Amino acid sequence: MLTLASSVTVLQLLVSPEAIVADVPIATVAREVRALWAPYVEVVVAMPGTPLRPADHTVELRVADRLLAPGHPADGDRGSLGWIEFVNGDPQPVITVSPERARRMMASASYLGQSVRSLPAALVHRLTAMAVGRTIAHELGHYLLRSTAHASTGLMRAALRPQHMLEPASRFRLTADQIAALTLRLAPAVARTLPTEPPAVATTARASPPVW
Ligand SMILES: [Zn+2]
Repeated sequence: MLTLASSVTVLQLLVSPEAIVADVPIATVAREVRALWAPYVEVVVAMPGTPLRPADHTVELRVADRLLAPGHPADGDRGSLGWIEFVNGDPQPVITVSPERARRMMASASYLGQSVRSLPAALVHRLTAMAVGRTIAHELGHYLLRSTAHASTGLMRAALRPQHMLEPASRFRLTADQIAALTLRLAPAVARTLPTEPPAVATTARASPPVW
């Protein structure tokens, strides 16, 4: 048997069925996530019902709009487009996004001097999908870097603004420090498989800055 060792880390994103909505084209979402991570990690987006493939990491993508009713605990993160949970310092392999918050953010924005509301629907949908895709890419950064930290520039900026949709993917890179940390995280593939003793007391921290 011939086994080819790949040096490229593969992360598989499992899309839940409720993430498939007409006004947030999933193809655009997937393209954004893949483009922003292309320099570092190959992201494979698995649509509902498609066969899974071997991957170094598998992360589930969920949608939380139905959880945003007043009084729901998730409502405390008002404004976040997406989030990921940390338990005992470990990022959980589930990313939650809110297409509804992305819709609201883009609907209140202007694009090249025009109100987004006045733009053709297809362009509004594309901008909204870009916001969702860039949010997912950011949350994957928390997952892969195993850190809740933010940076002043690049992919791990604390806030995503409507005008950021006009920026090319090259403005959503990792910093040199983050690349060094990521390289350390991804290189020791054997070490990742070693079991670790769980701490006695579980603590939960959420990486959810004001906007994303
Ligand atoms: Zn963040």
